[in-house]
Amino acid sequence: MPTMAQAEHTLNSVFGYPEFREGQKESVEALVEGNDVLSIMPTGAGKSLCYQIPAVIAEGITLVISPLISLMKDQVNVLLQYGVEATFINSTLTPKQQIAEIESAKQGKFKIIYIAPERLTTEAFSEFATHADISYIIVDEAHCVSQWGQDFRPAYLNIAPFIRSLKHRPVVGAFTATATIAVQKDIARLLELQNPKTVLTGFDRPNLYFEVIRPTDRDSVLLSYVLKRKGQSGIVYCVTRRAVEETTEMLKANGIEVARYHAGLSDEERSQAQEDFLQDKVPVIVATNAFGMGIDKSNVQFVIHYQMPKDLESYYQEAGRAGRDGEPAECCLLYMKQDIPLANYLIEHSLDNAFLDPETASNVRKQAEDRLQQMVVYATGRGCLRNRILSYFGEATTSVYCGNCSACLAQKGEQDVTREAGLIVSLVMSLNGKYDRTMVTHILCGKQNQRMIDEKLNEHNSFGALAAMGEGNIYAIIDELVGSEVLNLTDEEHPCLVAGHYAKDVLTGDYPVRIPLDRGGHQVVIPKHKEPENEDLFRLLSKLRLAIAREQRVPPFVIFSNSTLRDMAKRIPRNRGEMLRVNGVGENKMNRYGDTFLTTIAFYAKMKGLDAKA
Ligand code: ADP
Ligand code: ZN
Repeated sequence: MPTMAQAEHTLNSVFGYPEFREGQKESVEALVEGNDVLSIMPTGAGKSLCYQIPAVIAEGITLVISPLISLMKDQVNVLLQYGVEATFINSTLTPKQQIAEIESAKQGKFKIIYIAPERLTTEAFSEFATHADISYIIVDEAHCVSQWGQDFRPAYLNIAPFIRSLKHRPVVGAFTATATIAVQKDIARLLELQNPKTVLTGFDRPNLYFEVIRPTDRDSVLLSYVLKRKGQSGIVYCVTRRAVEETTEMLKANGIEVARYHAGLSDEERSQAQEDFLQDKVPVIVATNAFGMGIDKSNVQFVIHYQMPKDLESYYQEAGRAGRDGEPAECCLLYMKQDIPLANYLIEHSLDNAFLDPETASNVRKQAEDRLQQMVVYATGRGCLRNRILSYFGEATTSVYCGNCSACLAQKGEQDVTREAGLIVSLVMSLNGKYDRTMVTHILCGKQNQRMIDEKLNEHNSFGALAAMGEGNIYAIIDELVGSEVLNLTDEEHPCLVAGHYAKDVLTGDYPVRIPLDRGGHQVVIPKHKEPENEDLFRLLSKLRLAIAREQRVPPFVIFSNSTLRDMAKRIPRNRGEMLRVNGVGENKMNRYGDTFLTTIAFYAKMKGLDAKA
């Protein structure tokens, strides 16, 4: 019988994490002690470890049933990197490969096997299962068994009979990110869970910054938003296929590398787009909601909704694909009035396709309209955005101010623009006192004129950098900077901007700059960003990771997640012992990559003269 001590040891030595997160310990404990479990934990909370750890220490095999075939390959890759023997058996393998995997499984090669629910009823698989030593059956996306859930999958109803058909009943674990009380009851009943321990953790995702922008022109806001986040991985969600096409073209025309994804494309094109995005070959993907189910990419840094989705369930699920690695990430909604008729149209359209009797249809319509109403309240209300979401999902909140959403920042009446001020100052310094306030503002807004083109200012790396703020706010910051001697005006008839006494302090971030909020009701929103430690080392390590990932033909996050690299950059480990203390570095990864990363870090330390200090 495995123990919790073994579980803790596995967490540290195999997965390289010092402690369990909320909800993990309870789930692991239940499984390890032989109890069924039903865990409802939000996306990114770390559900996989809840069953992977018991699976590693169990005698027998763990079957993980999941509808998300595209997810399996990545999950297996991640496990192999940790040194855990795992495989998947699904329709992406040829029949021959499937038979070969089952043969290997019979010989006890795997600890964890991922399968789709349809597989349970095939002859070859059930023949294998009846003779195998199965310790756990894990049902991922367990809400799919319920008709009340968003994505009912009839094949999930095969799970209970399958379990009954086994000689020894394994311990069963059900996991999901979304389940109302009604759905929870359905899961327990339809999967025939035996006296399950229910683990419920909060829905809040504190590392996500929520923001609503009400643009007059969506394209220009989107463009500057994406430009400002150059090099970051992000998703642009559109409601319609047409919007995906047009937005993709618009971004491409402006030199941004993007992939597109919607249900109207061929299978090949879609899987290519998805693969390119997952492997960080293309930083940004423009997609309809067809994209995302099964996307397990931990380092998505922003999710921007070009149009408003039809309800908060959809919004939170899609936005929640940002920041799964726990790093600060941003979720932005662009809202315009015309999104409401569009959403209504989509609701009607889905009713047309649902073949419901008139009474049911009218009930369903009413519910959908209520949900849309709540979505509009989110988009237009003044209160804390996070609180709006959490209370919608029935979670009591203790504070009305989260401090990490656009509404909360706006409430304060002023905003911190130190980062933006730094950008302005470095632009002014690079222009050598040749331009006035208007030119500087127009460069930052990305507004072209002939002189700008003649003098190649439209190629300056600050061109358009602050477009999202609007001209008025850039003027306001410049005025504030001139008023406080960060910038000075020259004594000419036509005064130009030059660096002032405090310019350097703004550049280093030592001189905080604040401006009052725009009074016109136009809310300027600037996301909060913690400057990460040793950014240069982090970039060096990312490059190394990319090279290794390319060599192995796997996505970079499979080698190390972003938060692991951040922790490494922060700690600057100098030997194997210190390396093992980095979050996400277990023994297997230490053996595979530890020395390579240590060499790079040693090189960095030498360049920085860190050795002399020590
Ligand atoms: P979920 O399936 O709940 O959406 P995942 O299982 O994909 O979430 O985990 C999200 C991320 O959190 C992964 O990158 C994982 O490595 C990381 N993670 C999981 N558990 C821990 C932990 N105890 N400490 C630190 N990071 C963790
Ligand atoms: Zn808030």
